[in-house]
Amino acid sequence: MRFINNPIEILFEIVKERYPDTDCDIIIGMQMTDGKETLGCTLFPDDPNERVVIEIHPTLSLENATEILAHELAHVIAGKEADHNEHWNAIFAELHVVFQEKLINRFEQYNLV
Ligand SMILES: [Zn+2]
Repeated sequence: MRFINNPIEILFEIVKERYPDTDCDIIIGMQMTDGKETLGCTLFPDDPNERVVIEIHPTLSLENATEILAHELAHVIAGKEADHNEHWNAIFAELHVVFQEKLINRFEQYNLV
């Protein structure tokens, strides 16, 4: 059994190819630990020995979950200080463009269009 066009998997492929040092834990859960009612967040620990954590809300559609995960992964890649600055924006835009390319390629490869 295999999943042909899992968008989360495609996103992981892109990040591993382009930013192989990216390291974080990703949790799908309803308790956003930043205390806000958000659909996703990235938590940078004060202790550098602790891991960065991304949280994604479980009620999101697959499409929105992928988009929000890309947003949060761009935060991990850009670093804590970047927030939503140009550097973060460039990474997020890059992930989006490459994701679309890969998704189209995957659809064509398996005649899913
Ligand atoms: Zn953000």
